[in-house]
Amino acid sequence: MIYYAPTTLKEFNKYCQAHDNISILAGGTDILPRWQSDSSIKPKVLVDIKKMNELNSIQYSDKEIIIGALTTIQELKIDPIIQQEFSALSQSAREFAGVQIRHRATIGGNICNASPAGDLIPSLYVYNAVIEIAGSKGKKRISIQKFITGVGQTALKKDEIVINIILPKSNEKSIFYKLGLRQSMAISVINFAIAYELDGNGRWKSLKIAAGSVAPTVASLTTFANALCDGNNVDESIQLVDNDISPIDDIRASSNYRRSVLKNVLKFTIKEIYVG
Ligand SMILES: Cc1cc2nc3c(=O)[nH]c(=O)nc-3n(C[C@H](O)[C@H](O)[C@H](O)COP(=O)(O)OP(=O)(O)OC[C@H]3O[C@@H](n4cnc5c(N)ncnc54)[C@H](O)[C@@H]3O)c2cc1C
Repeated sequence: MIYYAPTTLKEFNKYCQAHDNISILAGGTDILPRWQSDSSIKPKVLVDIKKMNELNSIQYSDKEIIIGALTTIQELKIDPIIQQEFSALSQSAREFAGVQIRHRATIGGNICNASPAGDLIPSLYVYNAVIEIAGSKGKKRISIQKFITGVGQTALKKDEIVINIILPKSNEKSIFYKLGLRQSMAISVINFAIAYELDGNGRWKSLKIAAGSVAPTVASLTTFANALCDGNNVDESIQLVDNDISPIDDIRASSNYRRSVLKNVLKFTIKEIYVG
């Protein structure tokens, strides 16, 4: 295996144009355990991006927050602006793995791994996050919903890299919920994020809900959320969640359990925040 560790985007682009079948290594917390269990999938060329400092910052402006792809889960967890303005993301970082993994794993790796159970992804859906990608043809931006295309699948082309995750600021509050088979170091059986704003009368001004581990990609529960915004009652509308999910049976839970636990916890959470 050839190992290369660029320090700039320019070096990365130059190298990728000259080599085929490269595989990107960030924190390695997904990719390394996968190779350990199946050595046949080890790549020929490994590009370690951890030394690319330009991908490791959090920048703030009045309109948005720009999170570099190499930002670790620990850095997200302790960032005061993220805690205050993007609390679902902060909460998902708090409930992510254990301390060692949090210091190593990156936001870019979580998105590019594209697991339906990825804990950061539901929050990024409800914030309408935009993914900034760089490649030989320059930079481009794409919504998180278009970026993740299937289980472990993304819209990234072979010479492209995720450089930033951009979160537009809003007046919405947000919440994250994770259910695992134990309190910590657990892959989500289900997870979800809610972003919402209530008007002066305590009614929905906006409501976005995204749930993980209940479909091949994180699912936006738009049918249910729209029904609530139209003034329908949560007990009557909760069955609409079924329209937007297609959970499977696996070693962690059955599809029926995922359906019912998601609806029960969502109903409870919505009743906690809605006062109309
Ligand atoms: C013990 C343990 C516990 C875990 N707990 C959780 C948990 O609670 N919640 C959760 O969601 N996940 C969990 N994970 C999974 C993993 O830690 C996360 O998905 C993590 O965010 C991956 O980031 P990474 O930097 O380590 O990615 P890597 O393993 O380095 O890369 C993952 C994939 O993304 C690609 N990639 C990485 N960065 C980029 C980039 N900038 N541009 C393009 N492609 C890129 C790589 O090529 C690879 O395909 C856990 C893993 C372990 C081993």
